[in-house]
Amino acid sequence: MSSPLETFVHTHDAWLHETIDALVAIESPTDDKTAVDRCGAEFRRRAEAAGMRVRIEARPDAGDHSVVEIGHGRPRILLVGHVDTVWPHGQIARMPLVRRDGKLWGPGTLDMKVGVSMGLLATRAVFETAAPAQGSVAMLVTSDEETGSDTSRALIEQEALASDAVLVLEPALAGGPLKTSRKGIGQYLLVATGVAAHAGVDPAKGVSAIRELARQILALEALHDLTVGVSVNPGVIAGGTRPNVVAEEARLIVDVRAPTLADAARVDAAFRTLRPALPGARLAVTGGFERPPMERSAGVAALYAHAQAAAATLGQTVEEGGTGGGSDGNFTAALGVPTLDGLGAVGDGAHALHEHVELDRLLPRTALLAALIARLLSPAGTLPPR
Ligand SMILES: [Zn+2]
Repeated sequence: MSSPLETFVHTHDAWLHETIDALVAIESPTDDKTAVDRCGAEFRRRAEAAGMRVRIEARPDAGDHSVVEIGHGRPRILLVGHVDTVWPHGQIARMPLVRRDGKLWGPGTLDMKVGVSMGLLATRAVFETAAPAQGSVAMLVTSDEETGSDTSRALIEQEALASDAVLVLEPALAGGPLKTSRKGIGQYLLVATGVAAHAGVDPAKGVSAIRELARQILALEALHDLTVGVSVNPGVIAGGTRPNVVAEEARLIVDVRAPTLADAARVDAAFRTLRPALPGARLAVTGGFERPPMERSAGVAALYAHAQAAAATLGQTVEEGGTGGGSDGNFTAALGVPTLDGLGAVGDGAHALHEHVELDRLLPRTALLAALIARLLSPAGTLPPR
C-alpha cells in the first residue's frame, strides 16, 4: 500500500542512478569554472528534460549558478544544493564511483550530487503524479558552496526571500536525522606587529609579535565555552624569521562557531575590541561571521513537524539534530525563512576518502522529500507567518 509518490520514486530508480552517475562523472572542483559549469549544465539539461523552466545566473568570476522551477505562484518551496566539490581533478580515478557493500562510493556523492539528484526526482514525483493545485518548486544549485558561497550568497538570499520554505539537500546527520540547527561560522585574522631586535645583543629593544599573539590567544580562551556551544579555535599561526631575532610580525587565524545570533554578536564584539597587550606592539583584527547561525526558530520547528507528518504517511520516522558545520541553510534561516537541512543523502565521509551514500536509504529518503514537498504545497502545509 505504497503512496503514488513512493511508487513513482521506486519506478524511477534507474533514472535516479543514471543522474547520480552523470553528475559524479563530471568532476567539479569549486575553483575550476569550466569544470563546475559542465556539471551545472548537465543538471540543467536533466531538469529541462523533466519539464522544468531553467535560468542561468552566469558568473564571470566563478562557476555559474542554476535556478530551475516548475509550477506557479505560492506557496513556493526552494530546494538548495550545490554541484561543486572539494575534490581535485583525477580524484575519481583514486576513488571510483562504485556500488559495493550496499553503499555508493565516490567523490562528491554524499556531498552532494546524490542530494541534488534526489531533489530532482522528488520534484518530478510531486509534479508527475498528482500535480499540486497551487504553488511551485524551485531548485537553486550553486557552484561555490565549498569555498564559502561568496558569489552565490546574494542569489541564495534573494531566492529564499521569494519562497515560503527552504529545504537544503545537504547530507543528513549520521544515521539519518535532519538538521534543525547549525552553528554560525566566523573567521578572524589577527596580525601583530612588534619591533625586531637581536635576541642576544639587544633583547630589551625588541617587542615580540609572537609574545603579543600568545597573550591574545590566552585572552581568547575566555570566549571558548563548549558548555554553551561556542568554540574558538586558534587554528593557524605563523610568525618570526629566525630564532635569534625578536619577531617583528606574527599572524593568527581563528575559527569561531556560535549556536545563536546573540552568541555570534557577543563573540564578534569581543574580537573587535581586542587591544595590544604589550607596550609597543600593534594589533590588527579583521574578519567576522561568514555564515550566521541557523537557529531552531518556530518556522524551523514547524517545518520539521511537517517532515515528521510526511514521514508518517510513508510509515517512516525521522529525527532531528544540530551540527557545528555550516551550509547555505545558514543564510536562509537567518533571514527568517523556515529552513530544514539534511534532506539529502544518508552516508558518511564528506570531504574524506571513504565518502559514500547508503543505498538502502536512497529511495525512502527521496520519497520522504517528495512527500514533504507535496504536503507543503497542500492546504495542510501551513507555516507560521514571518
Ligand atoms: Zn562539503
